Amino acid sequence: MFNRCQSPPRLPPGSDWQDRNAEAVAGRYPGMDVVVNAAMSADGKLSSCRREQIKISGPEDFDRVDRIRREVDAIAVGIGTVLADDPHLTLDDPKRQQRRRENGRSANPARVVIDSRGRTPPDGRICDDAATTHVVVSSAAPDERREALREAGVELIVAGEERVDLTTAFGGLEAAGIDSLLVEGGGELIFSVIEDGLIDRLIVFVGSLVIGGRDAPTLADGDGFVDDFPALSLTSVDRVDDGVVLSYVAGE
Ligand code: NAP
Repeated sequence: MFNRCQSPPRLPPGSDWQDRNAEAVAGRYPGMDVVVNAAMSADGKLSSCRREQIKISGPEDFDRVDRIRREVDAIAVGIGTVLADDPHLTLDDPKRQQRRRENGRSANPARVVIDSRGRTPPDGRICDDAATTHVVVSSAAPDERREALREAGVELIVAGEERVDLTTAFGGLEAAGIDSLLVEGGGELIFSVIEDGLIDRLIVFVGSLVIGGRDAPTLADGDGFVDDFPALSLTSVDRVDDGVVLSYVAGE
């Protein structure tokens, strides 16, 4: 049976957007490097049943995540995370920002929100001028929401009819020059990225606490798989802060 979590095939370098889009429409995947990173409790929860942000890791892990952020072209979250946490998604370490500038890159990676109806608050921290922000909406996003986001300086990408189609969305991001993407959550978005076969690597910090709650977000929510469970290959286990970091590549 086809395992939808296997690494996506790479498109030849130099393919233009039309070619990539055609490939995506034909059911192939864009060639972007996609890493998912999140922190979960020992029982697999990303936050509490109140969907409030919980401190799961510590300073060493924050620094590890900052180092991944330093390397990527963009960081993506779902609208659920934006509404719950009002994240900024910028680098913590000014020296790392400086190094990016010296390498001819923007100080911070671009920010991406997956947001079918354009619910991203234009005055949210994710829309400030610290970095370019792309909001990916579906065709169902109301015109006034799109306009408000454009006025806030956001770059809009339309992908999908009712819900954001991630393969088309990632193709649009590639066309905007994003070749590497860090997906930070939440559980709905992570599930879809895996379900659509777009993930290359998964890195998860497992903290030494229990959050519990049947309605608390987990690492991969969505509808869940019933068979053909996506396989991962464990590549490393590292003790960090008071927890462990598990690193996987997608596929067997
Ligand atoms: P989420 O994954 O951030 O966003 C999900 C929303 O994205 C969906 O409800 C949907 O809303 C939109 N979306 C559009 N197209 C989608 C698609 N193709 N697939 C999936 N989603 C799509 O929200 P969440 O699962 O509720 O997670 C939020 C929680 O996770 C918060 O409590 C936050 O604190 C926590 N979190 C924890 C970590 C961590 O590392 N511990 C990291 C991030 C977030 P529309 O239909 O309106 O578009």
